[in-house]
Amino acid sequence: MPFIQYDHKPLFFTLRRSERAKRLHMVVRAQSFEVVAPKRISNRVILDFVCQQRRWMSKQLTQQAKRTTALNAIWPKAFLHGETVPFRGSQLHLNVRYGAVESVLRQEDSLLITLSWQRPCVQLESEIKKQLHQWYQAQAMMLIEASLAHFCPILGRWPKAVQLKQQKSRWGSCGVTQQIYLNWLLVLAPPGILEYVVVHELVHLIEPSHNKRFVGLMDQHYPAWREATAELNQIPLSAIRPRG
Ligand SMILES: [Zn+2]
Repeated sequence: MPFIQYDHKPLFFTLRRSERAKRLHMVVRAQSFEVVAPKRISNRVILDFVCQQRRWMSKQLTQQAKRTTALNAIWPKAFLHGETVPFRGSQLHLNVRYGAVESVLRQEDSLLITLSWQRPCVQLESEIKKQLHQWYQAQAMMLIEASLAHFCPILGRWPKAVQLKQQKSRWGSCGVTQQIYLNWLLVLAPPGILEYVVVHELVHLIEPSHNKRFVGLMDQHYPAWREATAELNQIPLSAIRPRG
């Protein structure tokens, strides 16, 4: 990958020539940048542009590193009472207790997890994890259904089915059979991000490729989609997947 130096550090970038690009611009990727250039612009002009952007690029990398550190630390070392877990861009405190009926209940910034009296103590952590996993799935589905209820009538399209997944490198996808798959980890992102992915996949029911028509529909139905995309691109999906 080509790079230029700034402040004794390499700034890596790739170049993509695009028929559709109207102007030279740069997209932030994971620890690198993608320069998107209209077909006819010379390499000299591109290189000058990259040089001009060095300060900005360096700043973006610093911010990304901070965000990655914060996101890497999103899951607690142990899933036990008093620890915190991520949800919709903030953190919830785990409040674990025993009771007759098992449940998970959100109370402002804490999550009240009730485990059955009959659970042996040795399985405590794995039980908490299991309950939490179910809770996240249910929350994801609830938020997705709310988004669908809002956006489907506006777009006039309904997916045949919606399924939650834990994809390794995708936030969502739309199959040829008009099925929509969404990554449940979207519930960890700040509000607005999950909603954006839902609209993105719904728009694919009308327009399968990311062409001008697609962009037009996104502009119309989710004007903040560019900001949401940028934010999503900077969340290291592989790093936030829970282990075990
Ligand atoms: Zn897409």
